[in-house]
Amino acid sequence: MIGKELIREYARSIGLDPVGFAGAHSFERLREMLEERHGKGYLSGFEAGTVDERIHPRLHLEEARSIIAAGLPYLRFSGQEDMCGIDGSAGIISGSAAGEDYHRVLKGKLEQLAVYISRETPNFKYLIMVDTGPLVDREVAYRAGLGFYGKNCSIIAPSLGSGIFLGEMLVNIELEPDSVLDMDCGECGICLEKCPTGALVKPYTLDVARCISYLTQKKGIIPRELRSRIGVHIYGCDRCQRYCPYNNKALGQTDEGVIVDIKELMEMGKRGFAERYKNSAAGWRGLNILKRNAVVALGNLKRGEDLDLLVKAIIHPSPVIRGHAAWAAGRIGGERAEGILIKALHTEKDEYVLDEIKKAIAEM
Ligand code: SF4
Ligand code: SF4
Repeated sequence: MIGKELIREYARSIGLDPVGFAGAHSFERLREMLEERHGKGYLSGFEAGTVDERIHPRLHLEEARSIIAAGLPYLRFSGQEDMCGIDGSAGIISGSAAGEDYHRVLKGKLEQLAVYISRETPNFKYLIMVDTGPLVDREVAYRAGLGFYGKNCSIIAPSLGSGIFLGEMLVNIELEPDSVLDMDCGECGICLEKCPTGALVKPYTLDVARCISYLTQKKGIIPRELRSRIGVHIYGCDRCQRYCPYNNKALGQTDEGVIVDIKELMEMGKRGFAERYKNSAAGWRGLNILKRNAVVALGNLKRGEDLDLLVKAIIHPSPVIRGHAAWAAGRIGGERAEGILIKALHTEKDEYVLDEIKKAIAEM
């Protein structure tokens, strides 16, 4: 039967790094934390499955004996301040969404690894999960020794930082487990200081409902009190990772694909969106969510010339976009913005949008 070293060697040859091995017994230590998060509402709504489904690998593959955990480095961080999504002049999307959709890429590589193992292993059974599966990828990675938990809730691989996509393969073969890494953040607390919304409520604890990564993916209305803290984030947020010393040390930093032309996005139709975002993880929520986020970014940039874009956004078919456009116009302020809002007040019929318009005028 195939052994760990051959699996690791092949995995690395196809770009998976780091790679580690864990037992397939339950992740019982997560139960309390998951139940607490359910209780306190620290959930995004994107989580799959019940608490039991999230901690018991064998509910998904009965014969599971081991788990192969793997990372795929994307290393799209640079420490530049204007790439941190608050003070920049252009929109930015998370480095994790800048390239081809990683779910697909990582899943493809794990499938490739499964084919390799199956050639040497009679009756090989496996199940691959990448992000959207019930198991908690980070906990699997931690158990398999890929990295340690940072205070920003990311898994940090000592030599690669946290810019790695995580996935796993449950397998019906016994593979000796690796040890967890005996490392932590020490006295550092930079990520907590740099989080613009206070989503990192304490070390290792994320209030998802305040996290920009969640806010830019959720449907509907972004809470008014958080909009001004979102800066120019159009999709996702890497701020607590960008400032992390472990990512500053990681090799191959780049911001390629991270910049978004807000004007282009605001004027984009369905076809342009499909061409630009069809292979990107940033496209999964659809064009209107990105437009809503772009409108918020315009409100935070506070540039008078952007009222040309908001004039159109305030008559968009989506009430959510119209409402956020009213907020953004109010943030920009001035006579022209006031005129746009007063005109909208006379033509708007939607109660939510009317409320946004009135508040925007009152706050100007
Ligand atoms: S992703 Fe952004 S908003 Fe979320 S915890 Fe990190 S810095 Fe805060
Ligand atoms: S910034 Fe500091 S505290 Fe936060 S995850 Fe990185 S090392 Fe840990």
